Amino acid sequence: FGHPVAENPTVVMIEAAFHAAGMENWRYLTIEIPPEHLAEAMKAVTTLNMKGINLTMPHKVEVLLHLDEISEAAEKIGAVNTVVNRSGKLFGENTDGKGFLESLRKDGGIDPKNKRAVVLGAGGAGRAICIELALAGCRHITVVNRSTNRGEELTRRIEDKTSARADFMALTPGFAVPENTDIFVQATSIGLYPHTGAKPDIEYDSILPSMTVCDVIPNPPHTEFLTEAEKRGAPTLDGLGMLVYQGTIGFRLWTGKEASVDAMKSALQREFGVAD
Ligand code: NDP
Repeated sequence: FGHPVAENPTVVMIEAAFHAAGMENWRYLTIEIPPEHLAEAMKAVTTLNMKGINLTMPHKVEVLLHLDEISEAAEKIGAVNTVVNRSGKLFGENTDGKGFLESLRKDGGIDPKNKRAVVLGAGGAGRAICIELALAGCRHITVVNRSTNRGEELTRRIEDKTSARADFMALTPGFAVPENTDIFVQATSIGLYPHTGAKPDIEYDSILPSMTVCDVIPNPPHTEFLTEAEKRGAPTLDGLGMLVYQGTIGFRLWTGKEASVDAMKSALQREFGVAD
């Protein structure tokens, strides 16, 4: 459920996973739901006996009013993007940060425990990533954001709801990544298609080869931000991996089966017109 939702690529990814698993009778639909119809739409999930749903903008916070139970992480993040219909009771989870962690661990070989992270962006993606990094044992998180209010609110949330330490820095031109950073995440919407040439205005020479540099932008997966990090010798992780892994978590919750990461990734690459 989203508004707007027509361009959302998740359908392509989940349908590819159904096909790869031989689940030919399963369907994933993208349904346009304006905010004033969210309550009725959530009732329809049980009425129509759907296995579950994803929520995208602008429903991820409002949906909390229509759920029977939410995961501990979703409660701490304050947003839900995946709902499971458990015999008529609606359970909410947030898979964005979990997908990021899985990509960090599986594709990057990085365990966040005791690490220091810097996260650009304090919107939905930044919030989910910061809370999951903190719950996974990250020692210190610096939130860097354009608007101070949102950035400081996230910093307080991390400190109140997890055992990680956090501080806030303003995203101003020339922002330099602290030298002792292990994980540097770009979680703003800068660089998302069709604004593919854009990148955050920061001091790229402050990126070191010792940092793992991640971008949440799935399309295009190879952003200008990651190109700059590669030029400084840093290992990188793109947002396509995060998107696929968060999709596998939803797939598991709805179907009880494992999704094919390869099938999902190839389907998205075809959709975005990028080579394997
Ligand atoms: P939100 O609208 O909630 O937040 C956007 C964030 O980007 C805010 O921190 C905002 O700062 C910042 N921002 C936007 N434009 C600028 C700019 N010109 N200069 C500086 N900061 C800017 O969006 P989401 O967090 O939901 O999504 C962010 C991105 O993450 C999207 O591109 C989305 O596609 C991607 N995403 C990827 C996922 C994946 O699985 N790969 C999953 C979820 C999201 P401010 O607070 O100052 O407005």
